[in-house]
Amino acid sequence: MVTALYRRYRPENFAELIGQAQVTAPLMAALRSDRVNHAYLFSGPRGCGKTTSARILARCLNCAEGPTDTPCGKCDSCVELARDGGGSLDVVEIDAASHNGVDDARELRERAGYAPARDRYKIFILDEAHMVTPQGFNALLKIVEEPPAHVKFIFATTEPDKVIATIRSRTHHYPFRLVPPAQMLDYLEEVCVAEKVEIAPGVMPLVVRSGGGSVRDSLSLLDQLIAGSEGRVEYDRAVALLGYTPESLLDEAIDALAIRDSASAFGVVDKVIQSGQDPRQFVEDVLERLRDIILVASVGAGAKAVLRGATDEMIDKMQSQASKFGQAELTHAATEVNASLSAMSGATSPKLHLELMVAKVLVPGANSSEIGSLARIERLERRIGIGEGASPVGSPAPAKVVAAEPVSASPAVAVEAAPVAVGSVTLAQMKAAWPEILRKVETKSMAAWLVAFGLDVVDFEVDVLTVRFPSQYDLEKFKAAEGAPDVLRTAIFEEFGVNVKFKPYLQAVAEVVAPETKVIDVVAEPEVVVVIEPEVEPEVAEPVDDGRYGESLLREILDAKPLDDK
Ligand SMILES: [Zn+2]
Repeated sequence: MVTALYRRYRPENFAELIGQAQVTAPLMAALRSDRVNHAYLFSGPRGCGKTTSARILARCLNCAEGPTDTPCGKCDSCVELARDGGGSLDVVEIDAASHNGVDDARELRERAGYAPARDRYKIFILDEAHMVTPQGFNALLKIVEEPPAHVKFIFATTEPDKVIATIRSRTHHYPFRLVPPAQMLDYLEEVCVAEKVEIAPGVMPLVVRSGGGSVRDSLSLLDQLIAGSEGRVEYDRAVALLGYTPESLLDEAIDALAIRDSASAFGVVDKVIQSGQDPRQFVEDVLERLRDIILVASVGAGAKAVLRGATDEMIDKMQSQASKFGQAELTHAATEVNASLSAMSGATSPKLHLELMVAKVLVPGANSSEIGSLARIERLERRIGIGEGASPVGSPAPAKVVAAEPVSASPAVAVEAAPVAVGSVTLAQMKAAWPEILRKVETKSMAAWLVAFGLDVVDFEVDVLTVRFPSQYDLEKFKAAEGAPDVLRTAIFEEFGVNVKFKPYLQAVAEVVAPETKVIDVVAEPEVVVVIEPEVEPEVAEPVDDGRYGESLLREILDAKPLDDK
């Protein structure tokens, strides 16, 4: 049986630990000048070296030639505390997840009273320290505050905030971080060289992405890929295992969007669905690729230094894709894809979502191929009930009829369809879909639904939706309800793909007195309608987070210091 990679490559001294210089440098300095504190708190995300560092620190402290910043590796203590050593009597590792009570703390206190069996210090490493109960911590407080000279404590935790403040204030706190992608990539490549494993181009960046900055997770993934390969980790297998969109499919999508070939673009969407890819992952992958292309377009030849792990062919390909897009289109595409990603939820059919995304990317830039695109988008609209004369959602008949129409052969029809872009929703459609929108609101937030269920659609123009409130009181409640306008707006967006602004209408109070006068069709009797001018507008403005990713993306690119801290 082979030991797991992350265990075989577990660092034995601080120099071998990657990506944590902010911790290792001061620790090594303290060891060199013999100013080691009696208690430490190591915090940070899982799998980035907290427990390993605690063991290294113990090894440094108890080395026969120490305390030293680099353990000798030869003395008894060093051998016992090496990665395949049996462990030392004087270094006690406690998993606080299962030993978190007062009794455990008392036992620990007792053990700390004894002198070390052989080495300089008795060192207690408390893993998952946030699991210790407040009572447990209180029992420990005294000894952590004034430990015997031969005792050292190292607490390791993913949640330092849960370690009680009185303990925290008696420790030196070292925050560990996720390892930046570039550094991780270099490290994994070193491991592969040491393991004599060949990795196909393009695989490593995927492993780094999946590992999410955790060395342990990244090594485990690499381990799994190596185990499932025969001497060479192939790209196709890695993509399938890690669940990413295959490069070929991604290229097809990007090429189709770049040259605004809507037929191919919708074809890709179909392939994604038919082949069982995760739609959300696909959108993420497209966004990631667009980001890379923007980067290549902006940085040019320097892109290779920024896009670690990308081959020359990939850079060339992205350069040609960038030129097909054009800068403005590229930005527009990234913005739309990003908006689509944040709007994705379980409520809408993933396929519709992908199609809407494709449609939105294709529309504005369409020039010579505009007619063809719009005609096809209209087909898409009809299928989801947005287009002119929409039939109820789910009725396939009209969609088939339209699909059967040879688009290119009937330009007249297509030209007529041109004004109907995605987003031009009619009042009738809005009214028809209103019950469904309210149902969505109900599933999202009961609180929002309670203030929204009595509202009626009065008018809809461009993106301003006029809704009737039964009374001033209802309007106030709606405005006061936390997030209700946002929930309603999101539900409308999911239904139609448009971001609306709300305009409230109130019926004149006098008219409401007699129950019979409850006006069903307000439009028919406009004189009884009081318009409350856009009081609600400010808080109903565009969602703030729209395009945030795109913006920060561009800023990152313009500053030319991206990727590393992602
Ligand atoms: Zn030693």
